[in-house]
Amino acid sequence: MDHNGLVKTLQNEGNLKYSFNGDEIDTLCQWMTIETFKQTQTLISKGEPADSLVFILSGLAQSLDDDRQIALHHKGDFAGDSLFSERSVHRVNVQALEDSITARLTCHDFHDFLKENQSLALKFQEFFKTISQARGEQLEGESFVDKKKYLALIAHNNMKSSLMEFCSMQSNKLEQFPLIATGTTGSLLFKKTGLVLSHKVASGPLGGDQAVGTMISTKNICGVIFFRDPLSAHPHHADIEALGRLCDVYQIPFATNPQSGEAILDYLLTGKAERELIPNHVLEVYKQGQSKVVEAG
Ligand code: PGA
Repeated sequence: MDHNGLVKTLQNEGNLKYSFNGDEIDTLCQWMTIETFKQTQTLISKGEPADSLVFILSGLAQSLDDDRQIALHHKGDFAGDSLFSERSVHRVNVQALEDSITARLTCHDFHDFLKENQSLALKFQEFFKTISQARGEQLEGESFVDKKKYLALIAHNNMKSSLMEFCSMQSNKLEQFPLIATGTTGSLLFKKTGLVLSHKVASGPLGGDQAVGTMISTKNICGVIFFRDPLSAHPHHADIEALGRLCDVYQIPFATNPQSGEAILDYLLTGKAERELIPNHVLEVYKQGQSKVVEAG
């Protein structure tokens, strides 16, 4: 078995106190089974009994938590370390991103290894256990994903009184959403209407509009009510344009005056935005084009 990559991984991973020489790694390899996987095939399934550890001998694989890529596994890397943790099931899916050759160590193989060479098997066991624990902690740290859908409230200075009046009149409806606002709008909102924000970003000209745009791209915004002043010039014109553009890209209702504001509140409260979205064909075409760019690369 060509285990050059394994040697590198087992010797370098995590600056751990364990080190293995070539003979020890050869011994471990004798207990493993070679498998081949075609691109997109699953090496390890989330939720399945954690009964094997998989080393990548060639190719490339990814770990996925739902649809979120949390790690790439190159030649020499391994996945499925839950085998050596307290966990009884695998915590992620591992999928081949390219045709790959792997070596699998099952728990049966490992028990046989333990019977035959207890001290070396225990040394590997400790090593994998430490890595599994470190990876688990990292995963828990990264796995907080905010799934809330905020309603964004923004007003230019000359429109702030108008937004405050609107929010006072619509407070019963607004209270049903987690609210987010740009800096000054947010501070005034609480002072004038008592509405409590769930989240606040920087003042618009200081990046707040861009921050709301970023949240649109992470699917955390359900609507934007932005009372724009149409009769003044704004230093952050480009950011305001960009926010409107992202609303179009992601089909987010975008209201710029009290009447459209009321319309989108009523619309959002019907729940139709989640259920009856008309497909965005330009977005689909764009995504397909980008997949081809990745495939061709
Ligand atoms: P502000 O920003 O709420 O901090 O005034 C709004 C904007 O001008 O975009």
